[in-house]
Amino acid sequence: MAKPFASTADTAAKIETLEILGDGIYALTAQGDPNVGAIEGEDFLVCFEARATPVAARDWLVRLREHTQKPVKYLVLTHYHAVRVLGASAFDAECIIASEATRKLIDERGMEDWASEFGRMPRLFKQPDSIPGLTRPTKTFERNHVIELGGDRGRIELHFCGRGHTAGDIVAWHEKSLTLFAGDLVEAQAALYTGDAFHMDWSTDTLDRVKSFRSENLVGGRGPVAKGVAATDAAIEQTREFLNSMIEHVGAAHRQGGTLRQAFEATHAALDPKFGRWPIFEHCLPFNVQRLWDELDGIDWPRIWTMERDREVWAQLQE
Ligand SMILES: [Zn+2]
Repeated sequence: MAKPFASTADTAAKIETLEILGDGIYALTAQGDPNVGAIEGEDFLVCFEARATPVAARDWLVRLREHTQKPVKYLVLTHYHAVRVLGASAFDAECIIASEATRKLIDERGMEDWASEFGRMPRLFKQPDSIPGLTRPTKTFERNHVIELGGDRGRIELHFCGRGHTAGDIVAWHEKSLTLFAGDLVEAQAALYTGDAFHMDWSTDTLDRVKSFRSENLVGGRGPVAKGVAATDAAIEQTREFLNSMIEHVGAAHRQGGTLRQAFEATHAALDPKFGRWPIFEHCLPFNVQRLWDELDGIDWPRIWTMERDREVWAQLQE
């Protein structure tokens, strides 16, 4: 029997958990659905990620408003993916910050990505008609940017650590609480999506830089918050292991002149025992293998996923 396309059969709501990681440090995790968070400045809030729709974002803001009424001055977007950015209008933020590479990706493929992600994971798009259009950052930077929080609350450093999950991912570092919001560069007990990724960069220098913060709290893109340096290191290394296993098995099929389907089947068999039960594993793997295959073919800049291409790759590998 054919597997249902991507996450279209995933319709059960997840339990959301708001964790207070320190004074004014918030993370909302949701059993493998995309995480969001916030850090309090002296008289404003910095929020991280925007969810897929304004209505979905408002559900998070209602939880946050149980703890603080400060206005959202900055909304930080770690990368361009639709399920993380299209809810931005709900925050009424003064400033929407992303990397310059993310701005370019939104210009280049924002519309296609919106359609693709909506088709792959409709459950996350709560009241999709509430999306007013593409989210565009109002402030971008190439490498680093600092937000001073005021009072004795320290500062947030935004860093581009190299190409990884996309060409433009950034992390947010709050040294005072040793908290790192790592976006989809790190997942904790959730499968990686690498369909727009740079596997070789991500699995080496980029993850090394993420690890160098020695964070005590690591909020990844999906899954629980990792607490303590040992746990944050473990989450990073587990992410690296997923990437390295893909590189090993897709790479072997590619070198031996095999087919994309053979690469997929070998990779699925190798990863399934360890990662198969994690959220979105089955959904992601066909797109991941296709992108890595492209990279091995010398295609540096990820091809744009469209609804049509999504279905073609799925049919080729899963049915
Ligand atoms: Zn993503």
